[in-house]
Amino acid sequence: MTTGDDLLGRYAGAMVQVFGTPQLVLASGHGCWVTDVDGRRYLDLLSGIAVNALGHGHPALVQAVAKQAESAIHVSNFFTSEPAIALAERLLEVAAAPQGSGVFFANSGAEATEAAIKLSRRTGRHRIVALEGSFHGRTTGALALTHKAAYREPFEPLIPGVVFVPPNDPDALRAAVDDRTAALFVEPVQGEAGVRELSPDYLRLARELTSARGALLVVDEIQTGIGRTGDWFAHQAAGIVPDAMTLAKGLGGGVPIGALVTFGPDVTTLLSAGQHGTTFGGNPLACAAGLAVLDTIERDHLLEHVRRVGALLDHVELDGVAGTRGRGLLRAIELDGIPAPAVMAAARDAGFIVNAVTPTALRLAPPLVISEDELQGFLDALPAILEAARATSGVTP
Ligand SMILES: *Cc1c(COP(=O)(O)O)cnc(C)c1O
Repeated sequence: MTTGDDLLGRYAGAMVQVFGTPQLVLASGHGCWVTDVDGRRYLDLLSGIAVNALGHGHPALVQAVAKQAESAIHVSNFFTSEPAIALAERLLEVAAAPQGSGVFFANSGAEATEAAIKLSRRTGRHRIVALEGSFHGRTTGALALTHKAAYREPFEPLIPGVVFVPPNDPDALRAAVDDRTAALFVEPVQGEAGVRELSPDYLRLARELTSARGALLVVDEIQTGIGRTGDWFAHQAAGIVPDAMTLAKGLGGGVPIGALVTFGPDVTTLLSAGQHGTTFGGNPLACAAGLAVLDTIERDHLLEHVRRVGALLDHVELDGVAGTRGRGLLRAIELDGIPAPAVMAAARDAGFIVNAVTPTALRLAPPLVISEDELQGFLDALPAILEAARATSGVTP
């Protein structure tokens, strides 16, 4: 029997070590549960970082992918396919995008960000305003808009002209967005910063200022989109219409796909034939997966479900918990005096996968299909998990 330890030994000998040592070697998943190679089961409260929207092995997704794989997996952009066209149409519909809007398919979130950066350059301007705490991806363009110094600095110089402003600070935004600004990039909820929401008023101000200055408003919905917060897209709760939106993560339910959505003809025609592309983009396999995800969210009323189940996390009143943040099924539990990595490890030992998104906070982003009972099972186990984490980290209550 090959054990997890054997495989991690081989991992160390075969992989570039950018992720450190993985916590587990997973073998399979079913619904909201995953099993590691040593046969241990875990409730998956992270879903591959907000990716496995339908959980693992969902029949609608499995059947769509299997059926598409039998007919055509890839056709290139010299040709197109019905799944690509249908997925673009469905995305424009759920985004309530006006006539003349469009979709560019990529293969990841960072690539969607790159497409948005190139789109913004076509305004004839190059300055970009981004927010402190932002995460837009790891390619060199996206990295320039990503705030964390540890990610950015080893690779500088990056593209010039990016300024960062503190989130939810109206005056800083007013001062930063001017008539030389190509685009303002925002995440409606900053996932990697620890699930920090932008207020609806701030998003509306962002819309007003960018419109007044002729800059594009780009919403990064790579983590927050596709039902994660209980709306199709998190910015919709603020009643704004952006100029562009980036998607990835949950869109393919686990099959790699990214997308840039451009709103209205003026923005959509900024990029013309030959100005951007990618070999795999819009391949029928990934698009069939995306269609299955969108169809299932609609058919099974998952937006309502996400809001209802997510409400279990509105208030978590426990010794060791300072509070919660977030919406729908994108949540953080802020800890009080217990290090998040210790809680993550204790949760894993107790059979739950969560993420220490900051040194003091856990992130929960379970499959959108998680049941109330499953999530309640974690909340019931949390006091003992916190107790175990306290013991291992030597914190006295
Ligand atoms: C994950 C993420 C990205 C990057 O997506 P990749 O697919 O990892 O390139 C960009 N923006 C946000 C908000 C994300 O959560």
